[in-house]
Amino acid sequence: MSLIDTPRHQGMRKKLVEGLKIKGIRDEKVLEAISRVPRHAFMDSSFVGFAYRDQAFPIAAGQTISQPYTVAFQTQLLDVFPLCKVLEVGTGSGYQAAVLCELKAKVYTIERQRELYVSAQQLLPGLGYQPAFFLGDGYKGLPTYGPFDRILVTAGAPYVPEELLGQLVIGGKMVIPVGKTDSQEMLLITRIGEDEYVTEKHGSFVFVPLLKGTVN
Ligand code: SAH
Repeated sequence: MSLIDTPRHQGMRKKLVEGLKIKGIRDEKVLEAISRVPRHAFMDSSFVGFAYRDQAFPIAAGQTISQPYTVAFQTQLLDVFPLCKVLEVGTGSGYQAAVLCELKAKVYTIERQRELYVSAQQLLPGLGYQPAFFLGDGYKGLPTYGPFDRILVTAGAPYVPEELLGQLVIGGKMVIPVGKTDSQEMLLITRIGEDEYVTEKHGSFVFVPLLKGTVN
């Protein structure tokens, strides 16, 4: 894993961002954030040469670092603003959390695999990103830290967890892929009242599954 960011890396990121624009990502702030985060620092050493391909890659614990297009798409839908409180479910490599930090969000990120929780916690501060890290079951959210302006789930959920809905502020938004294990629908859920939510569908994606409990 190389933490050094060279002009070559920056050039490859610029190309990646051009590709994301062509694929329909429009939000300039999101594109700028992606152009600043050194994705190669988040990759396993065997795949580091592919860091700026628009593809998902394996990380530790049988998980994946999401495809940049998916990260950009989810981040764009999430519509974060400076200092907004964001809960990310599924820290994984920490790449998505870093993108949210670049957008100046106050990021709380939760992971169920201890190995990933530890490595992200070791990596991100050295890159200048300071989210709050939690080891736990994201189905339950973080009741003592909520409510949140935004909730982003980065694993495929079989259903929308009730606890997460309850941890949104009124007016808050959640982006969550929901469906069977082979394909999920990207949902944008807005809480418009105490017990009122509006759901929009935004296309099909494939994520690793949202699983219960924690793994040591
Ligand atoms: N956001 C990550 C994507 C990682 S893949 C990145 O940018 O790299 C999804 C992650 O969700 C995996 O690390 C997986 O272990 C984690 N996960 C799955 N179910 C979870 C749960 N219930 N609570 C917290 N994390 C979970």
